[in-house]
Amino acid sequence: MSYTEEIYERVVAQNPNEPEFHQAVKEVLDTLKLVIDANEEEYRKLGLLERLVEPERIISFRVPWIDDNGKVQVNKGYRVQFNSAIGPYKGGLRFHPTVNQSILKFLGFEQIFKNSLTGLPIGGGKGGSNFDPKGKSDREVMAFCQSFMTELHKYIGADEDVPAGDIGVGGREIGYMYGQYKRLTGLYEGVLTGKGLTWGGSLVRTQATGYGLVYIVDEMMKAMGKTLEGQTVVISGSGNVAIYAAEKAQQLGAKVVAMSDSNGYVYDPEGIKLDIVKDIKEVKRGRIKEYADQVESAVYTADENGSKGIWSIKCDIALPCATQNELNLENAEKLVANGCYLVAEGANMPTTREATDYLQAKGVAFMPGKAANAGGVATSALEMSQNSARLSWSFEEVDAKLKDIMKDIYAKVSDAAKRYGVEGNFVAGANIAGFEKVVDAMKAQGLV
Ligand code: NDP
Repeated sequence: MSYTEEIYERVVAQNPNEPEFHQAVKEVLDTLKLVIDANEEEYRKLGLLERLVEPERIISFRVPWIDDNGKVQVNKGYRVQFNSAIGPYKGGLRFHPTVNQSILKFLGFEQIFKNSLTGLPIGGGKGGSNFDPKGKSDREVMAFCQSFMTELHKYIGADEDVPAGDIGVGGREIGYMYGQYKRLTGLYEGVLTGKGLTWGGSLVRTQATGYGLVYIVDEMMKAMGKTLEGQTVVISGSGNVAIYAAEKAQQLGAKVVAMSDSNGYVYDPEGIKLDIVKDIKEVKRGRIKEYADQVESAVYTADENGSKGIWSIKCDIALPCATQNELNLENAEKLVANGCYLVAEGANMPTTREATDYLQAKGVAFMPGKAANAGGVATSALEMSQNSARLSWSFEEVDAKLKDIMKDIYAKVSDAAKRYGVEGNFVAGANIAGFEKVVDAMKAQGLV
């Protein structure tokens, strides 16, 4: 049995009931096989893969808070500190009822390679809670965030572990958590990113993941001799990543015809009017359905499968920006049949393994999330730099750095794929390029 197969079996045996974590490890190990086989003896001796798949630590805790009826509620809280070989742990906090240890371990594991790809000194981590902010009052969200941070603050710090937002954690939640951290520690430091602009946040952070996604798509298009001008784009989700991916795609001349949320999707053949989506989602915290109530050319389709139906809409480019495993084999077949030639993941692991394999086999240019959505964490790292230096850079400065980082990621990913004889396989390229830097640092730092 090869070293990678052995490690995968070990992960499955030692981490039962963690299917998302198994899935993420398998994808990474399969594509790293070429690199690992070439160094098998050395890596085995160093126990390198055994260490890579085991988080440095997982903190799991109780989060009690009081709801508006005066009743005590209890949620689970977690922080997975996966790998600090190249920098302090960095990765978002997710508040969603589906959150569990498996999902956070998959996200933390992916984050190691994503953060490495950015070229910036940040390690991999992830955290969150099974708390659902939807339908909660502001006071309830604040009560939860304060209780969550009362425990978490013991384990994080500007040079130790710097969480950010993710699903269900936006500017409001980061604000409440930052306030509580400051109150408990007395420190005004860059311990969280995604902060507001008046209290240490960075310009472009809000837009960064979506903009970065489209910047890397633009690089892929250039390599194919195309531009985004006039291309039809379908984007799932209508949260932070989806909205700013749509904004940048539109700025570069593409037509975004569909967006979604977990209840269904809207199709607007005239092109999505983003100011209306922003008003519904960012201001009113409403449902995407309301878009069709306001725009005559739009049709809403309720979808009990999250928003999987969105992939049956004809497009050139598909950008899954909602959640994990939202694009399956059947959806991939529809996309290909309708002429889609490029898929780039704004969300983390939105495409199932079967769907990814199918898209690649059909010659669809496919960019995995750990490269395509790395603009968010990269800009978070730029926020950390500004906090440490007590500086604020202009929008143009940060945007230019983000663009350069995404260009550089594209170059690294396509170069690594070429070096290992799998040109155009960006999944392999991203894993290899991310892995090389982390392994180098782990080897240099000895057995820790
Ligand atoms: P948001 O909470 O802002 O938005 C999430 C969107 O996805 C919402 O429209 C939500 O709909 C939808 N969604 C969530 N769960 C499901 C589901 N089960 N089925 C269908 N739709 C669903 O999160 P973000 O935009 O920040 O994150 C989206 C993805 O991007 C996640 O995978 C995240 O890990 C990833 N990501 C985010 C980064 C960031 O900077 N924010 C950075 C890198 C990756 P609803 O409102 O109905 O729940």
